[in-house]
Amino acid sequence: MRIGVPAETRAGETRVAATPETVKKLAAKNQVRVQAGAGAGASIPDRDYQAAGAQLVASAQEACDADIVLGVRSPQPDLLRSGSVLIGMLDPYNREWLEAIARRGVTGFALELLPRTVSRGQAMDVLSSQANIAGYKAVILAAAEMGKYFPMLMTAAGTVKAARVRVLGAGVAGLQAIATAKRLGAVIDASDVRPAVKEQVESLGAKFVEVPYLTEEEREIAEGKGGYARPMPADWMRRQAEAVHQRAIQADVVITTALIPGRPAPKLISENTVKGMKPGAVIVDLAAEQGGNVEGIERGRIVVKHGVKLIGLENLPASVAGDASALYARNVYNFLALMLDPKSGEFKLDKSDDLVGPTLACEGGAVVKKG
Ligand code: NAD
Repeated sequence: MRIGVPAETRAGETRVAATPETVKKLAAKNQVRVQAGAGAGASIPDRDYQAAGAQLVASAQEACDADIVLGVRSPQPDLLRSGSVLIGMLDPYNREWLEAIARRGVTGFALELLPRTVSRGQAMDVLSSQANIAGYKAVILAAAEMGKYFPMLMTAAGTVKAARVRVLGAGVAGLQAIATAKRLGAVIDASDVRPAVKEQVESLGAKFVEVPYLTEEEREIAEGKGGYARPMPADWMRRQAEAVHQRAIQADVVITTALIPGRPAPKLISENTVKGMKPGAVIVDLAAEQGGNVEGIERGRIVVKHGVKLIGLENLPASVAGDASALYARNVYNFLALMLDPKSGEFKLDKSDDLVGPTLACEGGAVVKKG
């Protein structure tokens, strides 16, 4: 079989879907075509792909002329060959885009749809591997943009207070943000709608700030579904906003990561709260691409409003392209390996598999799974 790896074309996308490590494994039983320069953004030279057994091709067209195409995002749909298999982050909540991919007649797997409740899927979970990097980078960005130290320091010139960091949303990205800020010496508190994360937050050395549930309905919705949050009732959101305000105005750094799959990000910080924050404070909004958790955040930009720096940069994993690609490529390899016969290397589609079936987004010219 022929496996193709085109270079990514979306602006700012530096990652690559296969590394020499994964190419070497795939090349044992397949022909692997990598577009020249595909690894450049992740500092992987073409010669390393060649040494791993890949054939270099000059164009995306040639890389997509394959039985299986691996991408971080989907290549432009018109490059895809009917009957080929496509594996990548296909943006399944973007209906128009997914339909354009489907119309090419590809069997498309959207890795964002991989069920996270199936434990053998952890090694294929791109949302986790990439969110982890985003959480780390959010703290590094905040530290770089803030005019203060993170750790408490006692120096001959006097004592420096530790930075106060507030993390809103303690999923994969939020927990990594807590762990990173802790290593830098900050004092951290965190909150999330799901009560299950309290223990995880505390085990990382942060304080968990609860917004009590006043009704059974609130408690039940807060439990979430399949590990994900659900939209909370308006009254709980109002009480949360009050609690957030009180804590945010004392914070030096706020990192927001709250997401609800397939919906705009919940608004957690109002402009009024930004106004009340300390001059020089920094907010990093990891939900900026989904509309933002913070009022006034500008997608893709760093702006100063009311003396507070608002960081809405997108695709932070791409700014750690080497490790982000290494982890992503392993996720992709592990997912593909589910469908490759260990002996013959032949591709077999088993839709009854509890990871393969739910991740299949389009087949036979149509979208088969709504995001
Ligand atoms: P996510 O990116 O969808 O959301 C980030 C966080 O925002 C979540 O913790 C969510 O509860 C929180 N949130 C949503 N609305 C909020 C609000 N109004 N206020 C405060 N917080 C809000 O989620 P994620 O980080 O991708 O994953 C969520 C959880 O899924 C993880 O914490 C983990 O428990 C679980 N998970 C399990 C596995 C596994 O078992 N294999 C793998 C990955 C993730």
